[in-house]
Amino acid sequence: MLVDNHNRTINYLRLAVTDRCNLRCNYCMPSEGINFANNDKLFSIEELIRLSKIVVAQGINKIRITGGEPFVRKDLMVLLRELSAMNGLEDISITTNATLIGPYISELKTLGIKNINVSMDAISKATFEKITRRNQYDVVYENIIRLITEGFNVRINFIALEGQNTDDIIPMLDLTKHYDVCVRFLEEMPFNGGSKSFTTINWDYKRILEHIAGVYPDYYQLESPKTSTSINYKISGFEGSFGLIPSFSRTFCGSCNRLRISATGDIITCLYAKASSNLLTALRETDTDEKVKEYIEKAIGSRAKTGFEAQKKYKNVFSNSMTSIGG
Ligand code: SAM
Ligand code: SF4
Repeated sequence: MLVDNHNRTINYLRLAVTDRCNLRCNYCMPSEGINFANNDKLFSIEELIRLSKIVVAQGINKIRITGGEPFVRKDLMVLLRELSAMNGLEDISITTNATLIGPYISELKTLGIKNINVSMDAISKATFEKITRRNQYDVVYENIIRLITEGFNVRINFIALEGQNTDDIIPMLDLTKHYDVCVRFLEEMPFNGGSKSFTTINWDYKRILEHIAGVYPDYYQLESPKTSTSINYKISGFEGSFGLIPSFSRTFCGSCNRLRISATGDIITCLYAKASSNLLTALRETDTDEKVKEYIEKAIGSRAKTGFEAQKKYKNVFSNSMTSIGG
């Protein structure tokens, strides 16, 4: 079992399988001039499988596959097949922009991979295309509806972006009237590869809730797991639910159970911290897993207590893009 220096059990890994993406969401990365890693600086599928076996042996029982866009990797299903057969791994989840998932939906179902988070930050096509800088709206919408109707546990991640999509908050929430889906509203964080910087936000979780309550006062809070980053609600009579994620306000650090491994192998124990070591290098240095385990244990043994503490200690973390960290 992995336990950090603040006595928090770490059982959840967010694994970024690539830093590449076919969209260019303006809150995540600049439109061009992005320094994607060379192919040899990314994990091979065999390395991802080996790493997954190592962390599962250490007590990780939930792995979320993220990126970049995970499905730009043509060999992603090879990893997912291995993960779905791995003893001790109870939950495999994916975060995706849903542009490329279509051909894989049936196999995901067969593999028992049910939890899919989709980023969709606008219900208006024009706004969506402005934010993502690409014209993939129809396929994303179609795939989301397909995933919901085929019985996946779908959560839509919507970042409240001042001046861009806040008019879409209610129309996006309206999807939950008739669909069993959870729409989660996130605060914007300043991890965007340096394309913009800010130290405060106007649309924090409290304002988002006020905005929703102004239209739908008849909502109530749902019970959530202690380690959940979202505060979850339901509007009476609606099929689905909604959540608020204080990603900028960081009210949830105290119960954080997660570890991140970036697309290039950096081990990140807090979004607001710098990597303490690189597991891709470690994996390539040795055929024995013990050394890799040691790196992981060492990183977990010196975690910041909160994102605010980490932010004070480390400079320039905001030059990172979420496309490498994985969100
Ligand atoms: N491409 C996939 C997607 O968009 O869902 C997976 C990778 S993406 C980096 C993972 C998550 O990070 C998404 O839910 C996205 O909305 C979130 N994210 C990216 N940049 C962010 C930012 N600046 N602030 C808050 N969340 C961000
Ligand atoms: Fe790509 Fe996801 Fe970043 Fe959008 S949020 S640019 S889909 S990695």
